[in-house]
Amino acid sequence: MGLLALGTALEWPEAKKRAYQVREWGIKQLLEIWNKAKGKERDALLWGDEVEYLVVTYSKDEPRVLLSLRQAEILKALAADKDLAKEGGCVPAIQGHTTTAKSKSHPLPVFHPEFGRFMLEATPGKPWGIGFKELLNVEPDMKLRRKIAKEHMLSAEYPITLTTFPRIGSPGQFTYPFYPPSGPRLRSQFVPDEIANPHIRFPTLAANIRSRRGRKVQVNVPVFHDKNTPNPWKDPTVNFDLHNWPEDDDERNGAAPVDYIHMDAMAFGMGSCCLQITFQAKNITEGRQLYDQLSPLGPIMLALTAATPVYKGFLANTDVRWNQISRAVDCRTPEELGERPLKNDRWRIPKSRYASNSTYISTDPRLRQEYMDPDLVIDPEIKAKLVEGGMDDRLATHFAHLFIRDPIVIFEEDLQELDLNKTDHFENIQSTNWQHMRFKPPPAENNIGWRVEFRSMEIQVTDFENAAFSVFMVLVTRAILSFDLNFYIPIKKVDENMERAHVVDSVLKEKFYFRKNPFPQRPSRANTAFGDDSRPGSAMPSRPGSPGLPVDEEYEAMTIDQIVNGFPDGDFPGLIPIVESYLDSVNVDVETRCQLATYLELISKRASGELDTTARWIRNFVDAHPRYKNDSVVDEVMTHDLIGAVIAVGEREAAGKNFAGLGIHGLPRLLGRFRGGCGQETNGERNGASSSGTVD
Ligand code: ADP
Ligand code: MG
Ligand code: MG
Ligand code: MG
Ligand code: MG
Ligand code: MG
Repeated sequence: MGLLALGTALEWPEAKKRAYQVREWGIKQLLEIWNKAKGKERDALLWGDEVEYLVVTYSKDEPRVLLSLRQAEILKALAADKDLAKEGGCVPAIQGHTTTAKSKSHPLPVFHPEFGRFMLEATPGKPWGIGFKELLNVEPDMKLRRKIAKEHMLSAEYPITLTTFPRIGSPGQFTYPFYPPSGPRLRSQFVPDEIANPHIRFPTLAANIRSRRGRKVQVNVPVFHDKNTPNPWKDPTVNFDLHNWPEDDDERNGAAPVDYIHMDAMAFGMGSCCLQITFQAKNITEGRQLYDQLSPLGPIMLALTAATPVYKGFLANTDVRWNQISRAVDCRTPEELGERPLKNDRWRIPKSRYASNSTYISTDPRLRQEYMDPDLVIDPEIKAKLVEGGMDDRLATHFAHLFIRDPIVIFEEDLQELDLNKTDHFENIQSTNWQHMRFKPPPAENNIGWRVEFRSMEIQVTDFENAAFSVFMVLVTRAILSFDLNFYIPIKKVDENMERAHVVDSVLKEKFYFRKNPFPQRPSRANTAFGDDSRPGSAMPSRPGSPGLPVDEEYEAMTIDQIVNGFPDGDFPGLIPIVESYLDSVNVDVETRCQLATYLELISKRASGELDTTARWIRNFVDAHPRYKNDSVVDEVMTHDLIGAVIAVGEREAAGKNFAGLGIHGLPRLLGRFRGGCGQETNGERNGASSSGTVD
């Protein structure tokens, strides 16, 4: 989230009255961008990642680990650092680092605020270029970000890359400094208002979402039933007798059902960390193509990066953060939710403004009408204006869908005069539509092109993993463009996949709808790298694209292993074999290829189950902990030890060391063969395997 300028943020009923104006002006700004940039050509294929961190205070001997609320101070320290501020600064050598940074001139990373006052975001100093060598810079840059962040923290503070803090919202202290719940903005039973970034934008966002809904957000996650978990289970942390705010009635009115971990504030969702990748396309057509083709991969990559098994001190019966964020910012009214007949609101809306995306936007002739969402809600007036302004029907439909939402945070000062050289009103709606893909038009002020953001992945514990998933997505994107791949399936099936990705160990237990034949036409030796069917173990497609096939025969339910690694009897060759073929078709030097192979290997083995997802690793860690009573409770000591383990892994990684002797439960099954450098194989936990669940 970028920070907007300060101003007078309107409270909800006032903001609602100005919503029409923001949409109206937003559409005018969008048309301005469209007319300026629709013919933009030959933009470079740049890309960039975003890594989000929790900041914790941890000490081996303190029994409790806490969320540090010092985001502002840390960002201030980072901003005051002259070396960091110096433009065009070089990536300094990282001590003990074994992977050499290839580019000597990449600017230092940039740090950004996030919703949680315990969060940080870091991006590369400038986007990555198209060169393959550049891919080798990603992991060192991510390690550098972590190192720089740490250097600007107190000695007991650490940036860690877990999606969620396991005990956020638990009774007792979980932040430093301590603030008791609750406050006027969130009105939460469980977290104080001080949990959110104090910049007026964030508390207003939370308060206005709550006001628009007419009650608190309801973030309920099914509890994981272990053998000693009471059945039925009642969330013991819910207080049904509170009378601080009118919203305390929510719990008495059924907001906290049996067998669910109950959470009631935006911080439980937007306080989660993810890994996002933004790609710049060479022109708008390619951007629209990438948006569509990456879309079906969203749920697949969510399942593969699953990392969120614990909420509020309890094991959840889901593995990923997605739906919790969705619910944490669900601003829909009872009428929009279909709980009451429509009277004041304009339409029923099937999804939260944070949800899997509902449109395909490409001009690709392979995009069949049957793939589109039959329940898509659009604002017909907005669409008419966009079409009148020259936008084609399909893209106008996309934006007319995003614009069914109200702007949530409106600054009085911005409503005085419409500035068509700005995009603030457009961005107001666009950037609070948190879909799993985002189509980003060029901003007004500089020379940036049409971009597409891939937003579903969960953050991983190590930078090795985060680099692996980032680079994998880059390679898949290149393969999509190079082979003109076709991953289209009906959007409704993508929605369904998103739900399936939540299932515990969905990576192994679920099947996901996926297109069987991704190739534009029957591949021949002449036009693709997939001509050679004779390779041993080859699972290359054996039949033409079958344009006449009924839609529901174009796809089938596959395991993630089949989608990622391919399967001998199936039509789908597998994402990794596709990427390998792509790499075979271009010139990549041996060293780069070797490094990329370690990334692909991690992903391949996560998909096959040879390695664990982060979520599985955390579950096993909890399960093996001597204090765990098989009752779904993740207590303070277990949280302390888990985070201690995460920090220990991070420190080893930063120092370029392997994990031998770390004695952290299940580490080899998380990271597998851990490279000290390409070719140097080291095993995670060769000596010192321990099931004590503690760090030594
Ligand atoms: P968001 O709105 O998603 O927070 P940011 O401005 O933080 O967007 O940028 C997200 C990522 O996009 C960063 O990694 C950044 O380096 C990258 N990025 C910036 N400009 C471009 C560009 N022109 N093309 C591709 N990626 C870019
Ligand atoms: Mg972010
Ligand atoms: Mg960002
Ligand atoms: Mg942002
Ligand atoms: Mg982003
Ligand atoms: Mg046990």
